[in-house]
Amino acid sequence: MSITPRPRLRATVTGLAVAASALAGGTVTAAPSQAAACNGYVGLTFDDGPSAGQTPALLNALKQNGLRATMFNQGNNAAANPAQVKAQADAGMWVGNHSYSHPHLTQQSQAQMDSEISRTQQAIAAAGGGTPRLFRPPYGETDATLRSVEAKYGLTEVIWDVDSQDWNGASTDAIVQAVSRLTGGQVILMHEWPANTLAAIPRIAQALSAKGLCSGMISPQTGRAVAPDGGGNGGGGQGCTATLSAGEKWGDRYNLNVAVSGSGSWTVTMNVPSPAKVMSTWNISASYPSAQVLTARPNGSGNSWGATIQANGNWTWPTVSCTTS
Ligand SMILES: [Zn+2]
Repeated sequence: MSITPRPRLRATVTGLAVAASALAGGTVTAAPSQAAACNGYVGLTFDDGPSAGQTPALLNALKQNGLRATMFNQGNNAAANPAQVKAQADAGMWVGNHSYSHPHLTQQSQAQMDSEISRTQQAIAAAGGGTPRLFRPPYGETDATLRSVEAKYGLTEVIWDVDSQDWNGASTDAIVQAVSRLTGGQVILMHEWPANTLAAIPRIAQALSAKGLCSGMISPQTGRAVAPDGGGNGGGGQGCTATLSAGEKWGDRYNLNVAVSGSGSWTVTMNVPSPAKVMSTWNISASYPSAQVLTARPNGSGNSWGATIQANGNWTWPTVSCTTS
């Protein structure tokens, strides 16, 4: 762990009050850092959405339990529920392509495969979910022709290491046990629609935490679960990338370290999920265009910086995007 320079305070009453008590010593005690205990990352995936009936509850459960996941959407569902695609992205989830109408693709012509994939890319992008970089074939069925179509759209195929069997009537216990079998880098298949899956979310978070695992993104480069880069859809922005990592965590707030690569002249926009707030920052010139947005620019201290986030009950990490400036 690197040495954290003294944070530069954001002049809010709350921030000053907490910082003052911390400086006074003893009144703010450091709690074991859950995020810092990430011994590895796993890829939670939820297929077949989105839907107006299921997606909001699933996103709420994930957010409340500090989990991020990859949502493999069907194009027809994305087209019918664009607001839910946007909600997935806004909740910090990654959005992947799961075909348009969920056919057995390997029984289709190459032209049909192309249509299924391209229409889904368009539907998700049009809804605000970004352009997917991950593709999961329905039923996990794939072949060389399908892979060539995936490659045409820059998609990485993601099957799974563990099948939760939630689609097959698995109990909540069984789903949690399936998650417990995951090791770092692995990916588990779940779905948006089973009630038992939704019910399992808090215990999934507990099971991962007990093993020192955290929910991560699925790398478009390798198809394996890795630490989130905060860019959404595994994207790298335009010429620079901002990567988040956990810093110290307390009972009411946590530090996030941000490493910027690709350019020395950058602007990073951090969107903080309400009601969390940025309390202080270090190594940047900070501005706050709105209550939930921090804009960070270099202040001559290099490309590693950070922020202290007051959680206010919401421990979901902010999302960050980087542009060169
Ligand atoms: Zn499916």
